[in-house]
Amino acid sequence: MPMSNNKDKPNKATTPYIGRFAPSPSGRLHFGSLISAVASFCDARAHLGKWLVRIEDLDPPREEAGASDAIIQSLEAHGFTWDDKIVYQSQRLDAYQDAFDQLSDSIYPCNCIRQRISSLGGRYDGHCRDQTPPNGSTIAWRVNTCQHPNLRADSETFTDIFLGQQQLNLDVAGDFIIKRKDTLFSYQLAVVVDDLFQGITHIIRGQDLLDSSYWQRYLYLLLSSNTAVSGTQLPVYGHTPLALGSDLHKLSKQTKAAPINNDLAVSNITAALRFLGHPPPKTLLMTLAKGHKKSLQQCTEILAWASDNWDRALIPKKSSVAPALADA
Ligand code: GLU
Ligand code: ZN
Repeated sequence: MPMSNNKDKPNKATTPYIGRFAPSPSGRLHFGSLISAVASFCDARAHLGKWLVRIEDLDPPREEAGASDAIIQSLEAHGFTWDDKIVYQSQRLDAYQDAFDQLSDSIYPCNCIRQRISSLGGRYDGHCRDQTPPNGSTIAWRVNTCQHPNLRADSETFTDIFLGQQQLNLDVAGDFIIKRKDTLFSYQLAVVVDDLFQGITHIIRGQDLLDSSYWQRYLYLLLSSNTAVSGTQLPVYGHTPLALGSDLHKLSKQTKAAPINNDLAVSNITAALRFLGHPPPKTLLMTLAKGHKKSLQQCTEILAWASDNWDRALIPKKSSVAPALADA
């Protein structure tokens, strides 16, 4: 039996909790994405919540063939179970179009070229807010984040579950794109439409998405006030440390981080939990190994132990180099 420590736990069932893991299939599951999966799963289970999986296959040019199925297989092999049908963003384009139409009073076309925006240091300066791009020019659509000062103020600060009080980073905050020049809806729009649609209450993910939270919160407030979804509350956010490569850059599918090996699921899950400040006790691992249980059963029991013993205060705030996995 997994070890459990239920004493002194508040009645967590009283707070509704729907969490999610939302990988983009730009590659297979690597150690960095496993950390997000483990953290979001354990936080949800520790709070007797639901945990959903959403495949963010919104950007075909950046996707790898077969990656969606491979991610799902890896999740299964590592002992994860989810509480509803998997949502695929590629099947939700009508919902993004509806949201885009609802936002028509708050967005404007922008035909600025990449070079101009990078010369601003990445933060868009609102250049196209008050002008109409010439007919026939290629345009992206941006949200005017200055239009509703109250929404802006509400999205500016929040308390991160793991990192504490957060303040809008003025270096990045600016009017953001919800429809790209190549006509694809942006990640920012889709993520918020789907978090609203799925009733997500808790967003646990990597710190690389911390800055996006401000835009997403702004959009969330804008969309929920437009659609008059009564009582809609912003989700709670928790950003986990990133697993870095030896070059100190975050492991990512774009930089071809090695996919995790499903045959080593037990050691992968153990390594992810260690990284998150929750090393499974040696006695548990030895008992599982001696019991000759199947790898999947061992993963399930390790995740159950972690959910029972989950303590948000133990999650490191700083990113660090990923451990060497057995064959990564
Ligand atoms: N699809 C995003 C990614 O893989 C994550 C989205 C999110 O968790 O908000 O980086
Ligand atoms: Zn512009």
